[in-house]
Amino acid sequence: MAAAFFTSSSSSTLLFRRTATAVTFVALKQLGPCSIPPIHSPFHLPQRTMSRVSATHDEEASARAAATEANTGAPTIFDKIISKEIPSSIVYEDEKVLAFRDINPQAPVHVLVIPKLRDGLTELGKAEPRHEDILGHLLHASKIVAEKEGIVDGFRVVINSGATACQSVYHLHLHVLGGRQLKWPPG
Ligand code: 5GP
Repeated sequence: MAAAFFTSSSSSTLLFRRTATAVTFVALKQLGPCSIPPIHSPFHLPQRTMSRVSATHDEEASARAAATEANTGAPTIFDKIISKEIPSSIVYEDEKVLAFRDINPQAPVHVLVIPKLRDGLTELGKAEPRHEDILGHLLHASKIVAEKEGIVDGFRVVINSGATACQSVYHLHLHVLGGRQLKWPPG
């Protein structure tokens, strides 16, 4: 999994954290600097700056290169995995989604959950109301994967959205990570 900026400042940044089960769902996309803008509240809280974590220059460069082709609609490596043209270690499959082990695992359990039909979902930042069903289906499939892998008591679900988050494959995918103590903030 590519590491990401951890930031929170635009409407396209989504952070949902359920600490009770250590399930964290993160979607990050921001083209500006990695900081939180001034908070305009009656309390005049100071601006906080979040540090960048663990993305290497190589990861960033390849993510930016991948992003240039993101909206061409060109097939990705995941199309070949869906069609079984390229082999993968499948963990779960139904009529709408495919879950398979990441080729470069970042944890003892690292499974990617993808929609079989991309339908414009090159990245989460392209989601539209018509995608609500598949987005919910993908999250539920992630929980099924966690159960199958024996990590349902503690796991993380991550979506890298856009070059700033080091997304490298432009077919929406959820990373299901677990099998070790995961740290926060992510890196
Ligand atoms: P992203 O960086 O876009 O969030 O995640 C893409 C993920 O796809 C990476 O974690 C990478 O290791 C994985 N990946 C890329 N190519 C392949 C492949 O051919 N097979 C599998 N199983 N995973 C892949």
